[in-house]
Amino acid sequence: MSKTAARQNVLELDGVTKRYGEESAVEELSVRVRDGEFLTLLGPSGCGKTTTLRLVAGLETPDEGEVRIAGTSVAGGGRTVKPENRDVGLVFQEFALFPHMSVEENVAFGLEDGDDDRVDGMLELVGLEEHRAKKPDQLSGGQRQRVALARSLAPEPDVLLLDEPFSNLDVGLRVRMREEVRRITKEAGVTTVSVTHDQEEALSISDRVGVMNDGRLEQVGDPEKVFQTPESRFVADFLGHASFVPGTVTDEGVETPLGTVGTANIEGLTSEYEGAEVDILVRPDDAKALAPDGDGDGRIIHRTYDGPSFTYRVELEGGDTVHCMHNHTESFEVGDEVRVRLELDHPLAWYPSEK
Ligand code: ATP
Repeated sequence: MSKTAARQNVLELDGVTKRYGEESAVEELSVRVRDGEFLTLLGPSGCGKTTTLRLVAGLETPDEGEVRIAGTSVAGGGRTVKPENRDVGLVFQEFALFPHMSVEENVAFGLEDGDDDRVDGMLELVGLEEHRAKKPDQLSGGQRQRVALARSLAPEPDVLLLDEPFSNLDVGLRVRMREEVRRITKEAGVTTVSVTHDQEEALSISDRVGVMNDGRLEQVGDPEKVFQTPESRFVADFLGHASFVPGTVTDEGVETPLGTVGTANIEGLTSEYEGAEVDILVRPDDAKALAPDGDGDGRIIHRTYDGPSFTYRVELEGGDTVHCMHNHTESFEVGDEVRVRLELDHPLAWYPSEK
């Protein structure tokens, strides 16, 4: 492989499989992560996210397939490079700092030559210059996370791996640290792979999101694409707030209980599907509940207030439900009859009917 190509894809997994007994924790996983890119692996508990990170770090060995870092094979392909000889930084959920060492000693730990300038640069990058002499137990959760990041980034790894990096932080801090972790990794220019089961985190922090299910990568793409046009029902569901509205494909689009959604508003719908029964994916921001003008489309069966918005769950005739999101100036009660209007500014995904 040429040097240029190696630089473009800093991390490559090719058909990687890891089995524990008969069960595959990771199954034929292939993905390429570009130089400086932030990729998040997202999926439910037990889908193989952590095992994938461990395979990259060298803490596990694949049964099949190959892992390459900066163009060099580190596992499979006839060789296994030990974890300490891979240029990989790993930040664990619990940050794993040395409690008896100061912030700056923690950061200097991975540097063979104790390069003071490098330590200073790292402390500045993560905004901890004033706390350099403190011990980890004198720091807040967010500050501890900054130390862990600085320590992992100090030796200039090719790849930074983050294992559920925000799960030990409270909700408010979690959102702020997402922005910070993105800024820090981008300023360091490091190629990053993070794992989480939190879809909001994955969408907000990443350049690309890879959704895993049962050891396999179901879809990899930029966050908007994965959220708006998921390639499978699993991905649609896992990203949250999915309503599947049934319909029939006609020459005009998809005829649903909420009216016809025109062909231009349905992703990749062609005339060959005419007559097919399908379900279209409607997210809460695509639908509005309105006071009925005559007969309504359904009845509100649930109402959630989350601060910036209300989400109403409307049961349609036939039992399907759809979520409608509103700002808090408008308000219905559970039991109200409503009309549902689709307000679409992007094409909707659809799936063959399973009924
Ligand atoms: P979580 O979000 O709960 O951490 P995960 O997506 O990271 O889950 P993994 O920890 O990678 O999932 O585990 C994937 C599968 O492999 C699970 O079914 C798990 O039980 C199994 N597994 C993981 N490590 C081992 C092991 N050392 N021995 C046997 N089975 C294992």
